[in-house]
Amino acid sequence: MIVDMRKGATPEEIDGVVERARSLGLDIQLNLGTDKTIVAILGSNTGQLPTDIFAVLPGVENVARIMKPYKLASREFKAEDSIVSINGIEIGGKRIVVMAGPCAVESEEQFMKAARTVKSSGACIVRGGAFKPRTSPFSFQGLGKAGLELLVRARERFSIPVVTEVVDTHDVSQVSKYADILQVGARNMQNFTLLTEIGKSKCPVLLKRGLSATITEWLTAADYLLAEGNSQVILCERGIRTFEDSARFSLDVCSIPVVKKFSHLPLIVDPSHAAGHYSLVPAIAKAAVAAGADGLLIEVHPNPKEALVDGLQSLTPSDFARLMKELRRIAKAVGRYI
Ligand code: PEP
Ligand code: MN
Repeated sequence: MIVDMRKGATPEEIDGVVERARSLGLDIQLNLGTDKTIVAILGSNTGQLPTDIFAVLPGVENVARIMKPYKLASREFKAEDSIVSINGIEIGGKRIVVMAGPCAVESEEQFMKAARTVKSSGACIVRGGAFKPRTSPFSFQGLGKAGLELLVRARERFSIPVVTEVVDTHDVSQVSKYADILQVGARNMQNFTLLTEIGKSKCPVLLKRGLSATITEWLTAADYLLAEGNSQVILCERGIRTFEDSARFSLDVCSIPVVKKFSHLPLIVDPSHAAGHYSLVPAIAKAAVAAGADGLLIEVHPNPKEALVDGLQSLTPSDFARLMKELRRIAKAVGRYI
């Protein structure tokens, strides 16, 4: 249930709604907007409660039920776009934020080269996996803690924030000490215990769309993070499974305007995992920016032929530099910048 407070409602009036909800054993989340406050009343039995319970309270303008399964990620809870700020880099504003780097951190030499080159081409966040959830248990699984240490070294050396995946609930507190953004991989989008733990950490988080998840399921998964009070959630479209098998996945370009319509959360696009092949990456990266994505997550490797993971879909530093030039033109055409 969403309780819209009147413009200028007093703190006592807002407290009145919060206390009433708590007395009924319900949880609440506040959206203290610049204009007016919205109180989300959360709980499994809110569907049975009459809205009048809250409508009669002083300072309440309107009470409505959110019919969608996701509440906190919805525009009903927060009409204005959310911006996630990472060391002053705003995701969800006018700037298209490009995050780039190798799929996996492989060695000091590889990662420093990658970080240096992506930054010099205009990426403002570097990516690299230290824990790699692989389709096969026999594939390279990442450097683990040694990989996290290399991420921090690159962050300090090049003054660039880092994003890396966390796969295990028990690793959340450790990884959040090293990373500026925690990535939840597509295969973990509905790992609810992991989401709850990351929600508690309050660390900015990049929530990838599951391989076969609907947009509703994805936004409902985001609610797990938001419900713990972590408002720093960035969504990432990375392609879904369809009958089409000419690319690794099918990039759902439609999800960009759909998510923007129904959710206030910033949304970036990962063209690399959708494409599965370096030759397809530039076209779909440009399509994503044209369609309204707030940023991109692109795999770039100093020497893709020798990559331990995802070499086929990784751009070379020079291909990435060329793409960034083209992306700047697309961004300008849609009233944004890189
Ligand atoms: C990745 O970003 O390297 C990755 C494994 O992505 P996804 O979870 O989208 O497959
Ligand atoms: Mn990858």
